[in-house]
Amino acid sequence: MRRARDTALPAIVASRATAWAKVRQIDVELTKAGLMGEGQLLREHEEALKFASTMLKNELDPSEAAQVDSLVQGVTKASAELWQMRMSGRGRDARVPRAQWTALSQDEHSTPNGGSEAPLQQQAPRNPFTDDTEDEISEIGGNGKLTVTNVQRQLSILADNTRLRRLALNLESDQRFADMRRLQELRDPSVDHSWIRRLDFCDGPVLNEDDYALSLQLRLGANVVSDSYECPECGSLSDPKLSHSTCCAKAERTKGHYAVVRAMFDRCSQVDTSAVLEQRGLVEAEPGARPGDIFTTAAVPNRDAAVDVTIVSQEAAAAGQDCVATAHSKKFSRYRTAVQEWGETGIRLQPMVWSCEGRSHPDVSRVMTFCSAALARRSGCSAKLLLKRWRADIGVALAARRSRMARRCLPLATARSNYVLYGELGDGAGGQQAAEGGVGSYLQGTDEDDEGPPAPEASTQQARIASAGPVVALIAASGPYIAAASTDIRLG
Ligand SMILES: [Zn+2]
Repeated sequence: MRRARDTALPAIVASRATAWAKVRQIDVELTKAGLMGEGQLLREHEEALKFASTMLKNELDPSEAAQVDSLVQGVTKASAELWQMRMSGRGRDARVPRAQWTALSQDEHSTPNGGSEAPLQQQAPRNPFTDDTEDEISEIGGNGKLTVTNVQRQLSILADNTRLRRLALNLESDQRFADMRRLQELRDPSVDHSWIRRLDFCDGPVLNEDDYALSLQLRLGANVVSDSYECPECGSLSDPKLSHSTCCAKAERTKGHYAVVRAMFDRCSQVDTSAVLEQRGLVEAEPGARPGDIFTTAAVPNRDAAVDVTIVSQEAAAAGQDCVATAHSKKFSRYRTAVQEWGETGIRLQPMVWSCEGRSHPDVSRVMTFCSAALARRSGCSAKLLLKRWRADIGVALAARRSRMARRCLPLATARSNYVLYGELGDGAGGQQAAEGGVGSYLQGTDEDDEGPPAPEASTQQARIASAGPVVALIAASGPYIAAASTDIRLG
């Protein structure tokens, strides 16, 4: 997300560059009418454009700043041509010039970028921070037409490029490698971010409030707890940002896995009514093995496929440079007997691998596109919309899985916090003791034998009473109102 301050300069430059041809026209008309000197309006407009461009360039790194002038010139030229066309009565649209995304340094520490496929480093221009749909991502200028919004978007891509580079450098200098890996995962174009905007359950599955808040904290890398602590699930040390939990909480991990399997099966079974879950007996050499969560014909053209869903963490010790590619190849070595038996024409093993942040292996997109197209052909619905909803549903399932795993690894509630939150003391005196005395702890210092520090109200009261002669402080045996309860009674 970009702040208003970050979009101000790209917006000004885009607006002025796109309006240049119209301003020139107005300048000509005003000169003709004798209202202004020739070229005065256009000169002021160009000066303002130059000033804004210079300010924008000052905020960018050299590789991006070098692109601003050529982009502005391209836009000015294209808008002039478009204006000419429209003036002559032809309504042709012009295309917006594209900004070039510059790769970060080659020796990035956060390099799990889809094996040899590094979409952001090879296929410029792409903006990793937009929450656009796949269509819009593939066409980064929105619909590619020359409009102020699209020009602003191109300039914002340059600003994002600079900001990303600076962020990566900062993280690296602070040695925040887990943050770098998370950023690298989230930047990938295969991640579906639409769970953030999906708040209406009419649109499909949504995260509940608790999961949503925690998912946002995890995405932003917030310190969810104040310090490192012992994970109640596994006993190892957990970091305050809970990145440990991506490799822990086995129960929630499995539940999340089946949520994604259901999202897959829902679509596959619409295309192939004979699709089954957890099919056994597919491999003669290993009759008990279940190579794949779904057995269907809807995943791969002209072949039965054993679709195996896997969700992995970039924090796992065996993740390698690219956790998704590692898990994908591991599946083939795990089921090599089956793969050999099936050969080139039999059943196909089709691993579907996501990282816990939502990045997916290229196979995932291939299978889902094929299945959506088949479903669209059968039902007449839109394959694009179907795929978009499907990706969003899986994104929600992955975000819910991530936050529930984190919640499972949060520090356990103490007896004291249970008392404070729910008024629960546990059974018997032991329970009271565990909760550190429950309500009684507020009354420390009011008992003569109590060595704890007295409450401020009580000590002031006692000092005043001591100077006034022999008195007895009458304390109510229970009740939270110390000041009201300590009434002094004069003797004699
Ligand atoms: Zn753990």
